[in-house]
Order: sequence, then structure tokens, then C-alpha cells
Amino acid sequence: MRNFVSRVSLSVVSVFLLAIGPAQAQTSPALTVIRAGVLIDGASDTPRKNQLIFIRGQRIEKVADASAQIPSGSTVIDLSSHTVLPGLTDAHTHIFLWGEDPAKGGYDANILKAGIALRAARATFACRRALEQGFTTLRDVETEGAGYGDVEIKQAIAEGTIPGPRLFCATRAISTTGGYNLEDYAPELDMPKGAQIVDGPVQARKAAREQLEHGADWIKVYMTHRSWVDRQGNLISQPTLTVDELRAIVDEAHGWQKKVACHAYNGIGLQRALDGGCDSIEHGLEITDAQIAQMARQGTWYSPTLSPYYDLWAREDTPRGKRDRARAMVHEVSFKKALQARLKIVFGTDIGGIAWTEPMAQEFRRMVTLGMSPMDAIQSATSRPAEMLDMKGEIGAIAPGAYADMIAVSGDPLKDIGVLEHVSFVMHDGSVFKNEVAK
Ligand SMILES: [Zn+2]
Repeated sequence: MRNFVSRVSLSVVSVFLLAIGPAQAQTSPALTVIRAGVLIDGASDTPRKNQLIFIRGQRIEKVADASAQIPSGSTVIDLSSHTVLPGLTDAHTHIFLWGEDPAKGGYDANILKAGIALRAARATFACRRALEQGFTTLRDVETEGAGYGDVEIKQAIAEGTIPGPRLFCATRAISTTGGYNLEDYAPELDMPKGAQIVDGPVQARKAAREQLEHGADWIKVYMTHRSWVDRQGNLISQPTLTVDELRAIVDEAHGWQKKVACHAYNGIGLQRALDGGCDSIEHGLEITDAQIAQMARQGTWYSPTLSPYYDLWAREDTPRGKRDRARAMVHEVSFKKALQARLKIVFGTDIGGIAWTEPMAQEFRRMVTLGMSPMDAIQSATSRPAEMLDMKGEIGAIAPGAYADMIAVSGDPLKDIGVLEHVSFVMHDGSVFKNEVAK
């Protein structure tokens, strides 16, 4: 059916091109030139001063020194007092979460009380928020009970119905019986779940096939679920899928040339994620030295998502409060080990898990505070995730051929990474979405 539709639209386009004639058909889109005071191109370690970025249509045509000729008739955008960077990528978001307030029913209320239209409206808000803050690409790692809503939001963005970043969608995510919310209800109730539940490799593979069929760009798997602190003070995580179950999913996804993101805190579940061949570890709160070595060997991506673990700690004298503090403590150690081992760290906020009204760029401050250099932190949200998303050279870079996704900040993010929380210019796919500079 899809093939039929695209054949029809292709022939309509060719008839149209014939009708307007070759002269008009060859007219290339108008040229826009950005004057960048300082350019951080997302790939190189060295910023460059006084650069011109030539943009035609959705893409960057060339980058040159300020002495280069600007053709007459070009639109010039003057960002000469600003630092220009590639549009940012957040590799771990949830547009269908709303930072649910526990006092208002928390996660459960979102599934039990918010209908799909309300959730889609909130996701629309989330996409706009991300773009305003300079995030032109999101890897959105599951809809938390909103089915394939992410694929349709992506479609609405692509057709220009709503503004939003480039989305890589994981659809429903996969966990096991006893491995995801909603839970703690009367056992005779059949409660909806925030992920697709599978048991056994056959069901696991079937779930992956279904999700891929319906447009998943990535598969998201929960390899751990509940966590607590044991009598010795260790952080323990309940493992979910077995290695065999995960292998079935990874094998299926890789056959489609797609990748698998594994939520894993630590322990048995994290080990199974690595042994099962996952492509990225999400959170990875406590990673042993042997696991760090295995990740380096296997080329596993690591999205630490530091911010949510510093947010909303329960009282210190409660089991939850103890767990919250233990999580942040081990996480810091793991992040520093990962830095030292030069693991492929990608920027991820888990925003949605925290409210969309929070600044996404706060994650940069967390990373830099724990010892990452500002340039490394910037690259964790530009060229590195581009490679993970198989978009190297197309996003996360200001270079010829890349999509014209660009942001500008006043000040120097290499001196104060916090300036990335105040993005004053956003261009996405060659169109200016926000410009507070030219006033
Ligand atoms: Zn998440």
C-alpha cells in the first residue's frame, strides 16, 4: 500500500516538473549566509573565529572565512557577537512523559487518566520546548503507554503540521512480566503497562518485529526494573530479560539495521545487557571495571542521564531516600570511570522523567562538574550521537553537506557551559525557528 502511494506521488511530481519547464525546475533555493563570531563545528576540537556559513535549502553548502565573497541577493544573518554551534541532540528523552508529580498521582495518573489526545498535545508542547532550547534532534526512548504516538508526532513534524526536532522513535519499549509499571494493584486486575511485556525469546522477537513494522527507529529494552539498597548498603537492581530474550531482540533489530538501547542500572541486568549485545546502555548507574572494559571492547554507547538522579530525593531516613542517595553516589563513580576509559558518552537528559519546563542543558553542567571537558560535553550532544544514530556528517556538525541545524549563544560555552541554557538562535533544516539576536 505504501509503495503504491509513493509511486503515485512521484509521478505527480514528475508531471509537475515537466509542466513548469527545465529553467524553473533548475532554480536552486535562495542562499542564506550566517556570520558566526565564533564557530564550534561539533566535530573539531578547536573553535574558529569569524566564519561564514552558507546555507541553501535544508543543507549547509560551505563554511568559509569572513573574507569570502557573499553573493548579492543572499539573506545575511548576523551572529557575529555570538558563538554558533550545531543543533544539539538529546539521546534520551520521553516526549510522552510530563515529569509526573507524585503528589498528583505520578506516573500512574498519566496512563490511567490522560487520554491519548491530551498526551499528544503534551508531546507537541515537549517537541516545541526541545526545539526552543536548541535541541534539533531527539532519540525518544519510548512512549510510556502511548503506543506508537511518537511515530505519528514525528510524521506531524515532518509534514510541517507542528514544529519539532528530528525524532528517532523507540515506540513502546520491551520488558518482562514483573518488569514494568503499572504495578502494586490488586492481582486480579489486568493493568495497562508502560512497555510491551514479553516472556521468552519467541515473544521477545515478535515484539521487536511488531515495533519495527510500525516505525520504530530504535528498540528500547528494560534490562533492570526495581532498585533498592540491601543490608550491606549495596544498590541492587531487579533484572528483567534473560540473555536469550535480549539476543532475540538484538538479532531481529540488527537485521533491520536498527539498534537496541538498554535501560540498565547495574548488576545482573547490566551484565545481561552487555552479554546480549546491546548497542547503548541507558543510565548505567553502577558499572564495574570489567563491564567498563567490555563496553570499550564492544563499542557500546553510554547515555548516563545524570540529571534525574539529583532530582526529587525522598527523605533521607526512608528506604526510597536511601536508594536515591545511593544511586547518585555510584553514578558519579561510574561516569568518571567511563570518562577515563574514553567510552562513547552521549548526552541524555531523560527529560519527561523530569518536567519539560526544566532546562535540558542542565545535563551539560552535571557532566562538566564531574570532570568532562566542555568541548567533550558539547561533542556528546553533536558529532557523537550523530554517529550513534548513523547520521555522521549529516547532523551534529557544521560542515558542507550537513543539515542546516544550528544554534547560537552569547558568551563562550567553553568557559561557562551554563550559557547553553540560554540559546538565542535556532535554525532547523535551514529554517530559522527562533532569533532573539536580530532585534
Ligand atoms: Zn528514560
